[in-house]
Amino acid sequence: MRIGIDIDNVLSNFNEVLLNDYINHDKELGNNGIIKNNVYIRDMFNWPKDEEQQYYHDNIERIAKSLNVLENAPEYIRKLKEEGNEIYIISGRDNGEYSDPYKMTFDWLNKYNIVYDKVILTNAYNSLEKAKICLENDIDIMIDDIIKLVNGCKQCL
Ligand SMILES: [Mg+2]
Repeated sequence: MRIGIDIDNVLSNFNEVLLNDYINHDKELGNNGIIKNNVYIRDMFNWPKDEEQQYYHDNIERIAKSLNVLENAPEYIRKLKEEGNEIYIISGRDNGEYSDPYKMTFDWLNKYNIVYDKVILTNAYNSLEKAKICLENDIDIMIDDIIKLVNGCKQCL
C-alpha cells in the first residue's frame, strides 16, 4: 500500500509551537492575550491584520525549523515501511513562505530519523493541489489534518 503522510500537525507539533510563539509575541506587544477562541491561531489575537501577516511572514521559517516530532511518529512510520508499505511524505510547504522548503523538510525528516520513499511538497493555499498529487501518485491512504484535502479528493475523482 502507498501511504501519504502530511507533516504539519500530523508528524509535527506545528499548532502548538505557533500558538506559543504568538502568545509570547503578544506579551511583547503588551496586549491582553487571546481575545477570540474557536478561530485559527493567527486570528486569536488583537493585532492589526497587516501586522499579523508581516509577523507571520517574517517568522514562519524560524518556527517551522523549530518544530518537534510527535511522540512515536518515527517508530510508527518505520513499522509501516517494514510491513511493506511505501511512505510518501506530502506537505503543503511549497507555498512561497520558505526560502528552501525541500531542504528545510529533508533536514527536519533526517533530524528525527523519519523514513520515507518520496517527499512531495505542494502549495497549502490551493486546497485541490494536494488532492491532485494524491490521485496522480496513486496514494491509497492519505493521513492529513485538513478536511479540505479529503473534500478535494472527492472533487477530483
Ligand atoms: Mg497539516
